[in-house]
Amino acid sequence: MAKHQFKSESKRLLDLMINSIYTHKEIFLREIISNASDAIDKLSFIALTDDKLGMTRDDFKIYIRADKDSRTLTITDNGIGMDKDDLENNLGTIASSGSYKFKQEMEEKPEDIDIIGQFGVGFYSAFMVAKNITVNTKKYGSDTAYCWQSSGADGFTIDEIQKDTIGTEIILEMKDNTDEESYDEFLEQYRIQGLIKKYSDYIRYPIVMDMKKSRVKEETKDSDKPEYEEYTEAETLNSMVPIWQRPKKDVTQDEYDRFYNEKFFAMDKPVRTIVTSVEGVVTYKALLYIPSATPYDYYTKEYKKGLQLYSSGVLITENCEELVPEHFRFVKGIVDTADLSLNISREMLQHDRHLLTIAQNLEKKVKNELTAMLGSNREDYEKFFKAFGRQLKYGVVSDYGMHKEALQDLLLFYSSTEKKNVTLAEYVDRMKEDQKFIYFATGESSAAIDALPQTELLRSKGFEILYCTDDVDEFTLQTLGQYKDKKFCSATNDDLGIENEETEEDKKTNDALLTFVKETLGDKVAEVTASKKLVSHPVCLTAKGGISFEMEKYFNSVQPDSGMKAQRVLELNMNHSAVKTMQSLIESDIDKAKKYAEVLYSQALLIAGLPLENPSEYTDTST
Ligand code: ADP
Repeated sequence: MAKHQFKSESKRLLDLMINSIYTHKEIFLREIISNASDAIDKLSFIALTDDKLGMTRDDFKIYIRADKDSRTLTITDNGIGMDKDDLENNLGTIASSGSYKFKQEMEEKPEDIDIIGQFGVGFYSAFMVAKNITVNTKKYGSDTAYCWQSSGADGFTIDEIQKDTIGTEIILEMKDNTDEESYDEFLEQYRIQGLIKKYSDYIRYPIVMDMKKSRVKEETKDSDKPEYEEYTEAETLNSMVPIWQRPKKDVTQDEYDRFYNEKFFAMDKPVRTIVTSVEGVVTYKALLYIPSATPYDYYTKEYKKGLQLYSSGVLITENCEELVPEHFRFVKGIVDTADLSLNISREMLQHDRHLLTIAQNLEKKVKNELTAMLGSNREDYEKFFKAFGRQLKYGVVSDYGMHKEALQDLLLFYSSTEKKNVTLAEYVDRMKEDQKFIYFATGESSAAIDALPQTELLRSKGFEILYCTDDVDEFTLQTLGQYKDKKFCSATNDDLGIENEETEEDKKTNDALLTFVKETLGDKVAEVTASKKLVSHPVCLTAKGGISFEMEKYFNSVQPDSGMKAQRVLELNMNHSAVKTMQSLIESDIDKAKKYAEVLYSQALLIAGLPLENPSEYTDTST
């Protein structure tokens, strides 16, 4: 039969595997066994409803045979099997999940070969140890069986064969030993036994191997010189208890971490692992992970939230979205409950009462865990917040702020006085006696906010300012509206709630100047006021009404003709020399005074990061 070629990108991954210098070649067995287990999951699910199959849970097995003479290792399963299309699509291309992710990751960080150990690299990893791979398989519901064969980069063949039973047999012909590498070790039963314990212990089907053992011959038992004989006995190598079913005290953090990396194709070490077991109205076990790093596809459509849902050890769905709320969509994990009917449909699952109760309990668990981490290990929490803080803020603004109370205490903002991230509770605790509001300032970076003239007065009074540098920050605070009865107030707001110390006399002279500037600028500004905030800057712009400059910029960037415009209030620093000069010019040279007013307004626009209405005029007058 004609040779099929591997798709080009699969070929590159293959090359990588064939020529791998990777020291943990051993993981190939984990990959092959986990595929076998997945295939059995699929058939055991069908067996629940198809009586004709005549199989029960106890019939499913993975069988390993090592043959030193032919130097082959054979892994057999009685799972769902593959037909011709499956063989071409699944073993001929890299479309499948594990391998695909691995390849992407390799392209991003080719130097980091160590990631193989943390990743589901898939079927191809067998080429790290095998020079020739044969897959004999027959799919459930199909009459024909096939043999897929490949010795690597030059492609693969698919032929029809005779095979009576449903399932798959994978025969790995080991590479020849070299001076540096021996592949014989993977044919040693104790080595195989060790690998199964290490990587595949929790696989829920028996992994059976014929173990060669030795015993004293029965007839020489009582003699002085007992004789030994070899015999073979099938032994189940894995304990089969899924990690989430084992008592927490018997599992090391390392085991939990490894399970997380393998099961969820994750590269990071989870920042928290939550193990919970509940008995009562609903009975379930859950193993949840809070990751420490943002998955590369987290903010894309590709990312699927949800937990794996098992019912008494049988996988019901890979991604049960109903089990995690949107604002905790970073949580990964597994729920196993006996309270679900096994052949429940997707639609019914969504409305299942038990599931709803579990989801509510888990949401509380996650929240408590995050709260505890914030209180006891700030460093861990900061790491978590760096990865998923944005998600929590989105959680506050989404659903009309429905979850704001639940999430507000988990938020962090950078503080002007503390020079680090702080919680709202910490801010409020530190508030000064005469301080009415929780102040915040918005800008692209901390440095940009530091340079804002509007924050001068707040700073000079020693008031703490929260920095909003993320585009969702200001919306978050606006959605919250207040925290512990303290309202939020933008530093660019016209009323900062600070008492005015202006005298009557001052007010009169000021009013004349303010009227002059307002008349000169016309409709460009809604109001001109004597500033209570400015200390060293001559002018600043503040926004009046509900729309802030940040909102104006945001809406105009997503929809340029939105016409969204904040009402501009020009604040003048009456003590600044530039303003004083303008004042004296009103008497001596009114045209020059007008130009002064225009230039000061342009300066205020620039500082606020708003476009100049007439740039050439600005350069004209400023020269
Ligand atoms: P992944 O397991 O991450 O999807 P693999 O490269 O390991 O990627 O496997 C590719 C696909 O080949 C699997 O998704 C599965 O559909 C199929 N496959 C592999 N091994 C078996 C098997 N023993 N029985 C049935 N199908 C299998």
